[in-house]
Amino acid sequence: MGIRTLTIGAFARACRLSPKALRLYDELDLLRPARVDPATGYRHYAVEQLEQARLVAWLRRLGMPLARIREIRALDDPAAAAREIRAYWARVEAETAARRDLAAFLVDHLSDTARRDTAMLELRYCARSDRGLVRPANQDTAYAGARLLAVADGFGTDGGPASSAAVEALKFLDTEEAPAGGVLNLLEDAVRGASDAVRDVSDGTDETGTTLTALLWTGSRLALVHIGDSRAYLLRDGGLFRITHDHTVVQSLLDEGRLTPEEALSHPRPALLLKALSGGSHGTPDLRLHDARPGDRYLLCSDGLSTVVPDDDIRALLGTTPAPDAAVHALVSAANGAGGPDNVSCVVADVVEAAA
Ligand code: MN
Repeated sequence: MGIRTLTIGAFARACRLSPKALRLYDELDLLRPARVDPATGYRHYAVEQLEQARLVAWLRRLGMPLARIREIRALDDPAAAAREIRAYWARVEAETAARRDLAAFLVDHLSDTARRDTAMLELRYCARSDRGLVRPANQDTAYAGARLLAVADGFGTDGGPASSAAVEALKFLDTEEAPAGGVLNLLEDAVRGASDAVRDVSDGTDETGTTLTALLWTGSRLALVHIGDSRAYLLRDGGLFRITHDHTVVQSLLDEGRLTPEEALSHPRPALLLKALSGGSHGTPDLRLHDARPGDRYLLCSDGLSTVVPDDDIRALLGTTPAPDAAVHALVSAANGAGGPDNVSCVVADVVEAAA
């Protein structure tokens, strides 16, 4: 007495996959029939395979690629499969969020001509970069001007030149009047220039590179470019909001539910980057546009601040130091007061009504 089998037609109806899909999944080693008739070539499936076939059908409906489904099918443990599905979905949501930001950027960009600025606003700013107390050299670069704010955190043997080259390549933005409505192309070109500049000073590998987090003032809004684990924060109405997402391996493991926040704190390589400007790779930076309000305070910082000074302390320091230069001084001192284990860079910029 053999196992109970169904013809491909009956099995297809029962699991709601088409016979054509079942043949494809057989060829892809995703779902093998229990038996293939040696004379006719007809495929027969075991009743016990229905559960697996239904899972494949649902994962397809979820939009999961076949290769990923095969990996999940290879797991015999339902709990492990559940973990993989959760991780896949977290990745989809992260990618969707990046596309949502780009869509919002485009909508804003295309609505630009309809917008009329009511108040004349400008920035008050200060930048400061410090070696810290442990590192032999400062590989960070910080810059602040009337239109451009930038922080870059270099890594590798030529990390210092890399971060400085990236910021240098953006500096033309500070002097050039942004063409009306053209900020998107302007930023895209500028980031490409920064990426080329980093490649020129690096050895052509991923070993040397830099993070880059920059804000470009357009007169009423701030356009954000971000790649790596430096950060941008907004202090508005007393609340501190982080407006960048760390491109680190640890953050992606957190997003995917593979690490708890407690485990993340003790990860052996918390600063391992997923994306950066480097000699080898071409990671895509995040782009976003922020409306500016009078009273807004923006902070850009390298991880030398954010890894040792908790957000609550950053918020308190930003909230109690009215002048940007006092604020960056207090933040750098706080990082060094916490041991100064890394280079630390801070840029603080206040949105104020322009003097008449
Ligand atoms: Mn750093």
